[in-house]
Amino acid sequence: MSVIEPYRKTKIIAIANQKGGVGKTTTAINLGTALAALGRSVLLIDIDPQGNASTGLGILPSERSFTSYDLLFRSRPDELKSYTTSVPGLEIVPATSDLSSADVEMVQDPRRIHKMRDKLHSRIPNMVKRDFILIDCPPSLNLLTINALVAADSVLVPLQCEFFALEGLSQLMRTVQTVKAGSNPALKIEGIVLTMFDRRNNLSGQVESDVRENLGELVYETVIPRNVRLSEAPSHAVPALIYDHSSSGSVAYQKLAGELLARLQRSEHMAETA
Ligand code: ATP
Ligand code: MG
Repeated sequence: MSVIEPYRKTKIIAIANQKGGVGKTTTAINLGTALAALGRSVLLIDIDPQGNASTGLGILPSERSFTSYDLLFRSRPDELKSYTTSVPGLEIVPATSDLSSADVEMVQDPRRIHKMRDKLHSRIPNMVKRDFILIDCPPSLNLLTINALVAADSVLVPLQCEFFALEGLSQLMRTVQTVKAGSNPALKIEGIVLTMFDRRNNLSGQVESDVRENLGELVYETVIPRNVRLSEAPSHAVPALIYDHSSSGSVAYQKLAGELLARLQRSEHMAETA
């Protein structure tokens, strides 16, 4: 078994796809949990006004006194509060519906697409050490998602195994290229993760080969199966890895975390030897 070394730097990963219901939040919660189980410290930032990641991790709306809205709009310099969860090593900055007015509030601000970057990068040096910051994006290519892309080191894209899987992906890729060409030249595509794979349905297999043929190495080897435990867990306010750690969905997210760490280690090694 190989030993995976910790990273020297906080890695910020935006989990994004403007398509709704493709598994962004399920991936943020369960990948975050699996990384924490592997000894990494993880901060999840929920920037979806729906607040699904916050609810799924058991932070009641009434408890959300410091939110991603506060981080973006109201925080004092250096202020960043986060909430502990049922998973040791996994904390969250929750979201509330306040955030639905964020786009309008930012529109006149000349730093509108840099707000998240400015806030996070000024705080990271003083933060308790975090290996990962995962940003759970809303289902839109709005200013909030752009803020996440400008702040992030990389973007992880959950792609649902369905007929129109690739539709919309080119628009997301164009947006990533625009951000890269302007505000965040270091932005990388961490990878594409196929979600809700149903092995009883031929279409899932066809979509998988189609996506792999088109996107090659970018596509993670790990595929997340359609698994009812993943959809039940949020109503129990815990990650699937705690709700039923041996379910196929939990096992897949553990494998995904291992693959992500191995890929990061490989790219760091290549950067060092280049
Ligand atoms: P939104 O765009 O609304 O933020 P999302 O992309 O974050 O959605 P999720 O909320 O993670 O998507 O998933 C959408 C629904 O599908 C949820 O009810 C979730 O529990 C369920 N779901 C996600 N992944 C799986 C899976 N692999 N198997 C079964 N159900 C899943
Ligand atoms: Mg979501």
